[in-house]
Amino acid sequence: MRFSKTFIKTLRNAPKDETAKNGILLTRAGYIYKELAGIYDYLPLGLRVIENIKSIIRDELGKIGCEEVSLSLLQNPELWEKTGRWDDKEVDIWFKTKLSAGGELGLAPTHEEPITSLLKSYVKSYKDLPLYVYQIQNKFRNELRAKSGILRGREFLMKDLYSFTATEEELNDFYSKVEIAYKNIFDRLGIGSDTFEAFASGGIFSKYSHEFQTVTEVGEDTVWFNKDNSLAFNDEVFNDEVLSEFNCKKEDFTAKKACEVGNIFKLKFKYSEPLDLKFMNQENQNQTVYMGCYGIGVSRLMGVIVEKFADEKGLIWPENVAPFKYHLVAIGENGEKEAEKIYEKNENLFFYDDRKSVRFGEKMSDAELMGIPYVVLVSDRLLAEGKIEITKRETNEKTLLTTDEFIAKL
Ligand code: ATP
Ligand code: MG
Repeated sequence: MRFSKTFIKTLRNAPKDETAKNGILLTRAGYIYKELAGIYDYLPLGLRVIENIKSIIRDELGKIGCEEVSLSLLQNPELWEKTGRWDDKEVDIWFKTKLSAGGELGLAPTHEEPITSLLKSYVKSYKDLPLYVYQIQNKFRNELRAKSGILRGREFLMKDLYSFTATEEELNDFYSKVEIAYKNIFDRLGIGSDTFEAFASGGIFSKYSHEFQTVTEVGEDTVWFNKDNSLAFNDEVFNDEVLSEFNCKKEDFTAKKACEVGNIFKLKFKYSEPLDLKFMNQENQNQTVYMGCYGIGVSRLMGVIVEKFADEKGLIWPENVAPFKYHLVAIGENGEKEAEKIYEKNENLFFYDDRKSVRFGEKMSDAELMGIPYVVLVSDRLLAEGKIEITKRETNEKTLLTTDEFIAKL
């Protein structure tokens, strides 16, 4: 991608009402555009980061046998009435809209109801199970406060996976597989060492659900950790009862701020019962399907990665999610010629700052702001010595190579 050909520009200032580091840096670096509080657009570089996160998630979910769908965002109130979740007193974050032919529709805040109802057409017997179905899709939530940049959007991207099994054992087995898949995902995204599985409130059927919490000051949740971080509890379940159940003492725990990047629930019959998702078992009896649901905040993850890695100069992307591997900077006439030669070797690897009238200092500070892992400087001055300079953004470590040596590494 050529800087001179894209519409994005880096900005000296972010919108005045943007207070979170992720919102400020992503806006200034040209990754996102803020429409309104909690409502963001993803620009070319931001979209590439989102796509990289999605690919990692798809890859890990594929390994445990999940299949991908895309469900409509427009919601039929009848389904949600059956589970009691259409009522604004039950679910207080609905965006609702009217059909011009009369009647109401909702904008999906989540998708348990439609996926359960949809599968009624396909699940008839035990032979049709198990099923593991997910999507990576926008959600709408009329959140009261949206002040954490893309960590809390009114429209945001979620990966939501639903499991449908004939037995509780299969539900439990799959739940354990998702725990492992999630660990792999967070490792590959570079936040594995700061992300912990915490016990959280579970709702009706299982005592606890689990949340995947990334420790960060900007997080809205409080999570209690024991000394070696092998046990973690969301504040909402951290009480005397839990302490005695797990046989531990309050003084061995410390509270940290954390951001929930994912969660998993054993739903059992919570939705399959009211929506009547049944199957014929091996004894020819009608039985209700066991369900689980498993979320990951995809756009929130992008914000968490920013919060974890950025420094005072700007963004820093782990290689697996970076929009490009190299930020190629051309300075001077020979620099430009040589940079073109490098760029043409593999355009997919380079964000190429080929802008003509921009000075060296500005190009380098833009590169620092934009956070691509390696800055490749191709300047007249360095070429006079036969070299180009590669700087690792994260550590500022510099290497001098000849163009041929560098191209051989690509
Ligand atoms: P939170 O407690 O942060 O509001 P939640 O319990 O409402 O999250 P779910 O409804 O289970 O979360 O959604 C699944 C995942 O989607 C969450 O773990 C989180 O990572 C992400 N998520 C939830 N709400 C938002 C939001 N408003 N903006 C961005 N991501 C969100
Ligand atoms: Mg919420």
